[in-house]
Amino acid sequence: MTDESLQDIVCCMGQPVAGNPTQFMMEHAFLAAGLDWRYLTLEVGPDELAAAVAGMRAMGFRGGNFTIPHKVAVIKHLNGLSEAAELMGAVNCIHRVDDGFEGENTDGKGFVQSLVEVTEPAEKRVVILGAGGAARAIAVELGLSGVAHITVVNRTVDRGQDLVDLLNDRVKVSAELAAWEGDYRVEEGTDIVINATSIGLGDAAARVPLDYATLSSGMVAADVIFNPPKTVFLNEAERRGCTILDGLGMLVNQGVISFKIWTGVDPDPAVMREALEEYLEL
Ligand code: NDP
Repeated sequence: MTDESLQDIVCCMGQPVAGNPTQFMMEHAFLAAGLDWRYLTLEVGPDELAAAVAGMRAMGFRGGNFTIPHKVAVIKHLNGLSEAAELMGAVNCIHRVDDGFEGENTDGKGFVQSLVEVTEPAEKRVVILGAGGAARAIAVELGLSGVAHITVVNRTVDRGQDLVDLLNDRVKVSAELAAWEGDYRVEEGTDIVINATSIGLGDAAARVPLDYATLSSGMVAADVIFNPPKTVFLNEAERRGCTILDGLGMLVNQGVISFKIWTGVDPDPAVMREALEEYLEL
């Protein structure tokens, strides 16, 4: 298929996909950039994934996003992976290469792009709460960005250890595991603390189990939760003088990176954040 015969269509596949803030954000960004492109949100079950990707290929889609439960399963339907996606073993964004698709993971890159607005990651000591998909994406990108050390704090020890092994053995960044029991105490000398768990999603009162007195000014506290964006974790960190970063910044920036990959054009991040805030009624 030649470039001219491709359709200016990208899509998001997941299950379930009840309402999609990313579609709203992307369509506003296309309009602002003067691009007559479409972003479709498609509900696709695991048994239909292979046929759905073949359909994207046959219909000349430019690329797409993949969300739960397809981030790992989609890999076997792709022609190749970026370095970060290969290390993470998960893909959230695909784009055309020749007659197929290559997989990328823009979640961690989106996080780092938000972070550099407040601090440079190189040589920093980082605590990551959680070891799921978001934590894995962030940890790998921070490792590739040259942080000095990562402590992974996770409730399920095997999952946490798996991430620590990946960081030490393949990303070549010094990492250790802390099993999460009770309120976690952040060690003195920590520069960046990240809530990469799902605690707080859709629940403004949900508390991340942390000894908040161990947070101090000079630290950066970042949350992956974007709805609601002002979590208990960020409120407590702000009260103690930390610089805070909400999950909306990561969501906007992973979208900025995907947009550039598909279209070759830099979108306006302010338009994208405004669209998200409108969609989420913030
Ligand atoms: P996963 O299900 O893969 O991982 C969830 C993580 O949270 C696990 O480490 C889990 O620990 C931990 N966790 C959940 N509940 C608790 C609890 N009560 N106490 C301690 N730990 C807990 O989810 P993802 O990593 O894919 O997503 C996490 C969050 O990140 C979601 O809310 C998602 O919306 C958000 N996200 C935001 C993005 C953005 O752009 N802002 C992008 C991607 C995700 P355990 O292993 O012990 O179960």
